[in-house]
Amino acid sequence: MDSLIDKLTSLSKRRGFIFQNSEIYGGLASTWDYGPIGAELKKNIKDYWWNYHVYKRDDIVALESSILSLNKVWETSGHIQNFSDPLMECKVCNARFREDELEKSDGSCPTLKCDNKTFDAPREFNMMFKTNIGPVVSDNSEIYLRPETAQGIFVNFENILNTSRKKIPFGVAQIGKAFRNEITTGNFIFRTREFEMMEIEYFVKPEDSEKFYQEWIESCLNFLLSLNINKSNLRVREHTKEDLSHYSKGTSDIEYKFPWGWGELQGIANRGSFDLDAHSEASSKNFSIFEEATKTRYTPHVIEPSIGVDRLLLITLLDAFNEEQIEGKDDSRTVLKLSPIIAPVKVAILPLSKDPKLSELAKNIQKDLLTKGDLGKIEYDETQSIGRRYRRQDEIGTPLCVTIDFDSLDDNSATVRDRDSMKQKRVNIKELHPHLLSSINNYLK
Ligand code: ATP
Repeated sequence: MDSLIDKLTSLSKRRGFIFQNSEIYGGLASTWDYGPIGAELKKNIKDYWWNYHVYKRDDIVALESSILSLNKVWETSGHIQNFSDPLMECKVCNARFREDELEKSDGSCPTLKCDNKTFDAPREFNMMFKTNIGPVVSDNSEIYLRPETAQGIFVNFENILNTSRKKIPFGVAQIGKAFRNEITTGNFIFRTREFEMMEIEYFVKPEDSEKFYQEWIESCLNFLLSLNINKSNLRVREHTKEDLSHYSKGTSDIEYKFPWGWGELQGIANRGSFDLDAHSEASSKNFSIFEEATKTRYTPHVIEPSIGVDRLLLITLLDAFNEEQIEGKDDSRTVLKLSPIIAPVKVAILPLSKDPKLSELAKNIQKDLLTKGDLGKIEYDETQSIGRRYRRQDEIGTPLCVTIDFDSLDDNSATVRDRDSMKQKRVNIKELHPHLLSSINNYLK
């Protein structure tokens, strides 16, 4: 029997969510490209995150910083010294893996290639990707691809403060690519070397940091629940003192129950004033804030909710994936019960056959709905049997299908099919737009 991840990987390729990168040349391991449907899903996830955390409040501003920065940034943040994982090497098969993987495999080589229990002493392996800047390759031309987007926010702190007119507490949001030369990748898009992050640095008064840390954990959980992620698949795990990163005063992970066990989906860290203090000292800039009321200065503390877009996308797929028996029929279907907020296609317009009269009416309906512009992506499809087309729409998570048949030419009505209940309803074409809008809203309740 295929595992859930195997089934998802195959559905992703079949339906255009995610393809293996460089596939025609054999594929670059753990590197993925998002296809026409996957790219829409990813965009919807980012847009919704931005809407939820930035546009629904007035205290968060935007930033888009570069992937490349001066090495001084990474020296100061501690990444050059500390952003490493202990690398182990098996003495028999020479496989390389992270030290913590030994715990999961009871101390024997976790590659399944051998039962060996003897390894070279762990070495610290820095996970930042190095490249060279400019035409001459030398020690001086070495530069890193960013492993997180957060430092771009800290080094711009003064610029943002001066231009945004925000007062503490306020936050800065950024979505962008990050690169980590992970020792072990895998589980489809769970851990890759190139991925996208959605991060907020929320600056607060030191005495308020615990309160805002708790508020952000709550807000991040609510965001996930608003996407219909199953509550019983989520939990919050607070890091122990030994687990904490070099910068952190407290970190909680929101974990998801993956098919292979609980794993990190999102980190929420109370970073204290570590980053602003470090950059302030190294750059001789003063990042402290003067408080009029008390006539004192303080360096803001920062709360950082950070989530990988790809990992979030993976859990939306895992959580939405259903294989179910069709009631009253000796048949089953695969259906992605995605929240319509992020569903790649919101409505599919499906003429029953390729008859030119049906195509014309169906295309006019699609054009009318597209012109209104408030439903999102509306797909037109007239190939294959209607059963196969429903199957495809179910597999990409389309909440509503509109079928135009020969009766439609006479009674000016179309059949609207609901993805989850599979119930069908005849709706007058003039009423189609409000009907589709309210059906999508019903899904959200
Ligand atoms: P992990 O322990 O899983 O390696 P981390 O603790 O190093 O993750 P953070 O530095 O807290 O991760 O990164 C914030 C978020 O970015 C994670 O919660 C995760 O969603 C995402 N993320 C981190 N590393 C990867 C990766 N290699 N591939 C995909 N997403 C990642």
